Amino acid sequence: MKLLENKVALITGASRGIGEAIALKFAQQGANIAFTYLSSEQRAKEQEDKLNALGIKAKAYKSDAGNYAAAEQLTTDVMKDFGAIDICVNNAGISRDNLLLRLTEEQWDEVIQANLKSVYNLTKQVIKPMMKARSGSIINMSSVVGVQGNAGQSSYAASKAGVIGFTKSIALELGSRNIRCNAIAPGFIETDMTSYLKDGGAEKWFSQIPLARFGKPEEIADVALFLASDMSAYVTGQVINACGGMTT
Ligand code: NAP
Repeated sequence: MKLLENKVALITGASRGIGEAIALKFAQQGANIAFTYLSSEQRAKEQEDKLNALGIKAKAYKSDAGNYAAAEQLTTDVMKDFGAIDICVNNAGISRDNLLLRLTEEQWDEVIQANLKSVYNLTKQVIKPMMKARSGSIINMSSVVGVQGNAGQSSYAASKAGVIGFTKSIALELGSRNIRCNAIAPGFIETDMTSYLKDGGAEKWFSQIPLARFGKPEEIADVALFLASDMSAYVTGQVINACGGMTT
């Protein structure tokens, strides 16, 4: 028996990186996958085909996570196409790193909108079908930077710390409805978002990481699988640091 047999998972930002790995892992465990992207049309189509080839139902939706009306429309569309939303992974995110002295208001707003408001936008929608079903698992992508801060990443850190506060609050609000809400706080994971860190050699970062390497998207997907499945049936309101020991 697969861990997510016949479940429907809605995953934002799954055309690339961590979201792509989560979608693949969930599909391998029997879940039907609705996923979003913003601009990677071609990659999203390829991902949709790859997932459908696994024998589950998968569909890509172009939807801006930072837009409230888009989240409302997305949820309506997914309910029409799939009939349920058992798992929601708020994964889409961006970074616009700059020291505060140089950080523009526009950069600040962009990051808060894509990383934090997005989580409000979609969670607010998916809890409606989850409350009716009296069951659900919501997984929000935070970051080690949201747990401990980072120079040059104040907007990103604020958005990801906000995600943690939101996650804990929703867990408290909806626990009695059997809806769980948890966050993952990854460290440095090998994706497009962190590719610039390799300039001049990745090794210089390893001294900050007890496991002395960057993480792989699949390793974050494993944590997401745990939180999505009944393996974590008694876990809610938690932040799982998947960071090679950085926050220890
Ligand atoms: P990535 O490789 O840059 O991929 C980002 C994904 O999010 C893409 O699928 C992108 O779609 C989508 N996206 C971005 N803005 C969007 C929007 N407004 N609406 C819908 N989709 C949007 O990033 P990643 O490294 O996989 O990161 C995934 C999540 O993990 C993010 O929340 C990030 O903050 C978090 N995280 C990453 C790391 C790391 O080291 N990589 C560490 C901690 C936390 P398009 O392809 O269409 O652009």
